[in-house]
Amino acid sequence: MREQIVPGILGYPCTGDEMRRIVLTGFRGTGKTEIGKILASRLNVPVTDTDSLIETLTGRSIPDIFHDDGEERFRSIEREVIASIPKADVIVSTGGGVVCDPKNMEYLRRDSTVVLLFADIDTIEKRLLKKPRPPLTSLTLREEIASMLDRRRQQYRASSDFCMDTSVTSPEHAAEKILAFLQTGIPTENQRNTALAFFKTGRLPPVSLKKLEDILTGPDRNPRTRILGVAGYPCAHSRSPKLFNALFESYRLDYYYTWFEDPQLDEIMNVAKILDAKGLSVTIPFKHDVIEYLDEVDEHAAQKIGAVNTVVFACGTTVGYNTDWLGVRKPLVSMKGADAVLLGAGGVAAGAAYALMDLDMDVTILNRTPDNAKKLAERFGCRWGTWEEFDRIKPDLVVNATPLGMQPDTRNPLRVDQLHRDMTVFDLVYTPPVTPLIEAARAQGCRTITGIEMFIEQAREQFYLFFGIDVPVEKVRELVA
Ligand code: NAP
Repeated sequence: MREQIVPGILGYPCTGDEMRRIVLTGFRGTGKTEIGKILASRLNVPVTDTDSLIETLTGRSIPDIFHDDGEERFRSIEREVIASIPKADVIVSTGGGVVCDPKNMEYLRRDSTVVLLFADIDTIEKRLLKKPRPPLTSLTLREEIASMLDRRRQQYRASSDFCMDTSVTSPEHAAEKILAFLQTGIPTENQRNTALAFFKTGRLPPVSLKKLEDILTGPDRNPRTRILGVAGYPCAHSRSPKLFNALFESYRLDYYYTWFEDPQLDEIMNVAKILDAKGLSVTIPFKHDVIEYLDEVDEHAAQKIGAVNTVVFACGTTVGYNTDWLGVRKPLVSMKGADAVLLGAGGVAAGAAYALMDLDMDVTILNRTPDNAKKLAERFGCRWGTWEEFDRIKPDLVVNATPLGMQPDTRNPLRVDQLHRDMTVFDLVYTPPVTPLIEAARAQGCRTITGIEMFIEQAREQFYLFFGIDVPVEKVRELVA
C-alpha cells in the first residue's frame, strides 16, 4: 500500500512549520510540466511554470522575446520572475536554462527540494518533435539538444537534490518516485546504520557525531537532508565543514557537511555511495587515487593536473574536478607573464604549476627531491632545479607549495635575505593564516598573498560545482575568519 502524503504540506515528516517547495529543473521534453501537475494534484498545492509566468508578464511568447530582445534580456526577465515565486507550498516547473544563472539557483534552492528530470537525447527529440516551436538557434533540433545538454550538464547536476530519469517511465510513475524520495530519502535504514558505524570510528567532534546520529537514525530524521564531506587522512584540521555548514545555513539548504576521515579511500567512497552523498572535497593523500573511482573528470583535473579535489555525485554518475588550480590562479591574474618560482612538487604544486603556466608565467619548480621537480616540470613544460638555485633566478613571484611553516612547523622555506621588496610571495599554507614566510616577506616589504586566499577561491568554486550558487568572496572570507 502507498504511504499517505499529507495534502498541502510538502515537508515530510510533517511538523507543521516545515513546508518546502518542490522545484523541477531539466531540459525541455523531460516532463517537468506534466509531472509538476501530477505532484500538485497529489499534494493539493498550486503549480507554477516560470516560462508561462514570463509570457503572462510580458504578453509575448518566449521565442518572440529571444528573437526581438535577445537571450540576455530574456534571462533578466526570468530572474525577476523567479525571485517573485512564493517560498512555501508550491510546485515550480522551470524553464530549461534557469540552472545556468547562479542567482536563479540561489532563489530556487532556498527552502526547497530541487528535482532534476532528465532523459536520453532520442527521447527528448521524439517528445519535442510532437510540439514544435520556433528554434532558438540556427542548429537542427537534434544538434541544438546535444549542444545545450553538453553546455548545461554541470549546472543541471549542480541543481539537483534528487535526479529522475524520465526516458522510460510514465509521468505518474515519476511523480510517485519523487514523492517516495520526499518521504523516505534514498539510503535504507541498514545503509544509514552502516554509514553511522563508519563515522563512529573516525575522529569527529562529539557535536558532529550527534548531528549525524540525528540525521541518519534520529526519531525526527528529515529524510531529505543530504550529506557532503571532506575525504582525507588526516583531515580533522580541515576548515571546510565549518565553512560549508555556515553556507548551508545562510542559503537555507538541507545539507550537512562532515569529515570522511579514513586511511582507506575504498571505505570512504563506499560510505559516500551508500549514503547517496552529494559530493566530497578530496584532500591528502587521495587527490590522485580518487580518479580511478570516477566516471568522468573535467579536462583540467585528471587529464592535465592529475589530481581531483572535488567529487560530485549526481544522477548515478561520479564526476571529478580540480578547483585548487583556480584558487591559485585567481589571486595572481594581475601577474600574467611574471617570472615565478614554485617551491615544492607535490599534489598542490601540480595545480599551482598548471595555474602559473595558464597565466603565461616563466615557471621554475624547485624541490627538495630534484627528481620530483623534474617530473612535474616535464609535464607542464617549465624549468626545474634544486632549492639552491633560487638566488640565481630572482623571481617576481614565489609560491610556496610545501608544508614548511604549517602548524606546528615554524620553519621558513626561504632566508630573509632571499626576499626583496619587488617580490610577490604567495604561501599556500593557511594554518596559521600568517605563516613565518608571510611574516618575513611583509617585514621585507614584499606583496604577500596568504593561503586563505587560495582556500576561499577553491571553496567558492566547489560550492558552485555542488549547488550552482556563486558565493561572494567577502561572504566566504567572513565565514573562514
Ligand atoms: P605533498 O603532496 O605531500 O607535497 C609536499 C611537497 O613539499 C613535496 O614536493 C615535498 O618534497 C615538499 N616538502 C615536504 N616537506 C619538506 C621539507 N621539510 N622541506 C622541503 N620540502 C618539503 O603535499 P601537498 O598536498 O602538495 O600540500 C602542500 C601544502 O599545500 C600543504 O602543506 C598545505 O599547507 C597546502 N595546501 C593549501 C591549500 C589551500 O587551500 N590554501 C589546499 C591544499 C594544500 P619531496 O618531493 O622532496 O617530498
